[in-house]
Amino acid sequence: MIRFMSASKIRCFKECRRKYYFRYIESIEPITKALPLALGKAVHTGLEILDGGGTMEQAEAAINLQYEDWPEEDTGMIPVHALAIVAGYHEYVKPDWKIIDLESRFEVSCGKGRRLIGYFDGIIERNGHTYILERKTARTVDEKYLHNLLWDEQASIYAYAASELGLNIKGILYDIIQKASIRQKQNETEEEFIERLREWYKAPSRYTRHLVTRNRNQIESLADDIRDVALDITVTEREQRWYRNPAACQIYGCAFRSICLEDTPEARTEFQTKETYK
Ligand code: SF4
Repeated sequence: MIRFMSASKIRCFKECRRKYYFRYIESIEPITKALPLALGKAVHTGLEILDGGGTMEQAEAAINLQYEDWPEEDTGMIPVHALAIVAGYHEYVKPDWKIIDLESRFEVSCGKGRRLIGYFDGIIERNGHTYILERKTARTVDEKYLHNLLWDEQASIYAYAASELGLNIKGILYDIIQKASIRQKQNETEEEFIERLREWYKAPSRYTRHLVTRNRNQIESLADDIRDVALDITVTEREQRWYRNPAACQIYGCAFRSICLEDTPEARTEFQTKETYK
């Protein structure tokens, strides 16, 4: 049987096996979706439309469509916030590269009987070299944040996938968008706040471009890690040992806390089954 791995699965397993069990073996997710992740997804959707030559109107329609069946009290300002980011990025961040491929799916081997799958945000050519394009949103973009990108696991996995596909990747080019730290004031209307939000993103300083290179030795060493983790996942699935890692509970606030300590039928009512690959 072929087992499919992804950057998210690998990261989740390394964080906490119990979390992996809930997410990928039981395939459950909280009924209430995680708002911080929702903003990043909406931004990604809008930028994808613009990358493909679409208009701001089309980007707006795609973002709104994504949240069509979400209750408004859950989405709140996410669609308008995402649109403000997309509009600002579009205006202030000019691509200095040539797009080779966008949102392309990859599937490569990561060990016997295991396939690593995912999507590149983009593959680009810049100054005669090929890079993986990654766009991120972050609350704080400082030296520490940029330094930590050297260990960005998702991008490392994508670099491995690209090399397996025979692409001569020089590294990862990050465009990082700083998320607004402003909130709606007490006596401010929604329209006024949206306007203030749009103004906030009208500053080139909200956008940072950063390059991380990956040489052949680094990619080969990362490949060993990826194959080892993929093998650990296979063994753990066979032996059904899903122990907890309390050190990971604070990472983005684990969504499975309510059933992790005590798995009761009442707590289970907050979860639903998710369509996923095994
Ligand atoms: S609450 Fe902590 S220990 Fe439990 S699944 Fe989440 S990360 Fe793991």
